[in-house]
Amino acid sequence: MGNDRGLTPQAEDFSAWYNEIVQQAELACHSQVRGCMVIRPYGYRIWELIQGALDGMFKATGHENAYFPLFLPKSALDREAEHVEGFAPEVAVVTHAGGAELEEPLVIRPTSEAIIWPILSDWIQSYRDLPVLLNQWANVVRWEMRTRPFLRTTEFLWQEGHTAHASQEEAEEETRRMLGVYRSFMEDWMAMPVVTGLKSESEKFAGAVRTYATEGLMKDNKALQAGTSHNLGQNFAKAFDVRYQTEDGEHEYVWSTSWGVSTRLIGALIMAHGDDMGLILPPRLAPVQVVIVPIWRNDDQKSIVLAAGEDIVSRLTEVDVRAKLDVREGMNPGAKYYDWERRGVPLRLEVGPRDVEAGQVMSVRRFTPDGEERKRPIQVESLVDEIPALLVRMQDELLAGARNRREASTVRGVESMDEFRSIVDGQGGFVFTGWCGDEECESRVKDETKATIRVIPDEEFRTDPAPTRCLCGAESRYEVVRAKAY
Ligand SMILES: [Zn+2]
Repeated sequence: MGNDRGLTPQAEDFSAWYNEIVQQAELACHSQVRGCMVIRPYGYRIWELIQGALDGMFKATGHENAYFPLFLPKSALDREAEHVEGFAPEVAVVTHAGGAELEEPLVIRPTSEAIIWPILSDWIQSYRDLPVLLNQWANVVRWEMRTRPFLRTTEFLWQEGHTAHASQEEAEEETRRMLGVYRSFMEDWMAMPVVTGLKSESEKFAGAVRTYATEGLMKDNKALQAGTSHNLGQNFAKAFDVRYQTEDGEHEYVWSTSWGVSTRLIGALIMAHGDDMGLILPPRLAPVQVVIVPIWRNDDQKSIVLAAGEDIVSRLTEVDVRAKLDVREGMNPGAKYYDWERRGVPLRLEVGPRDVEAGQVMSVRRFTPDGEERKRPIQVESLVDEIPALLVRMQDELLAGARNRREASTVRGVESMDEFRSIVDGQGGFVFTGWCGDEECESRVKDETKATIRVIPDEEFRTDPAPTRCLCGAESRYEVVRAKAY
């Protein structure tokens, strides 16, 4: 059931709320093929902003973009045993093309290791060719049974980094560096705090030696894996015979990594911040940071407020604020407020004839820390100083609020299965517990509670003192973060 805004409250049905937001904020819609989504212009603009920020961070850490083909011969995928086992169930295969059956079927990339590594074997001959630091922005296809817009779609957009190194240490350093890049992006741009750490063996990438991940907590207290960084060891170098000549003239297999984030990040943004009024976008990733809503009753007033609105847009554009004047006819200001609130625009400026006379606008924030007034008049003359500063403050407040929420939804030191079950079936959130390290114990807890080990957390997130017992009662070898997850 929708509220007066036609939006199901989060507390009533979070999943319905999510689907309605995706539709009503015009982020995406379904296509003719089940599980494939159309990313609409407003959603795609968010993706472009995500891309722009990440691309800059990848380049700043020495990576170059390249593009590899969409198809690979099926035999190439088969070369790394764990890799093919992990991906085979969800690959789409092209058997016919050009009006005839193909001699060898082609796989549509589910990820590009098996496309890139045969090429790297040509590119890499000597230690002088290393490291290779590549990134690709592309689409991939994974035939998923149950799909949801942005979170799990058959085709999705992503970036995949692929690097090759001369030593194990360098590959590990790169894997950790990119995990750090993801974490900075998620905190500084998405205003989404994340726990970083190592995936358990059962949850790691097919073909990796170690997988690290960033885990965010959504507003329904379920975890979302937002980015992963894999140390591939020499697995792919061996599968595709990529060796280099060392300074001493020896021939060694190279060490490699891969790392990726996808349009799933848009799903994360929606669920990490949104509320019953709609989407909430962090200012740094908002396609429209400031919307100006002109208010008029007659044509004279209309021309005055529209002129004032255009003047405000050009002032804000000068200081690199993404501002938009809502000139839609036949829609009252209240309906426009609802519309932009639903789309998560951080700041609204209302301009009526009396405001123009007084040389001011009424600013209304989409969100404030608890209890703070959303509305405040601002002088037009000081907009260029105040608005950029306000957007920076709102970005910080959004992160701080998300951090507080995560802390309030984190329980540490849980040692009994009963207590664990009552938390994950109740409030949910991150639960820090011990783990004996046994895979059977891991899958038993998963089967019984639907909560999985998200990560073995990095040191800064760990509890002091560390837990001594696993949920099964055995001695703990690792502290882990468990949660129900997307
Ligand atoms: Zn155990």
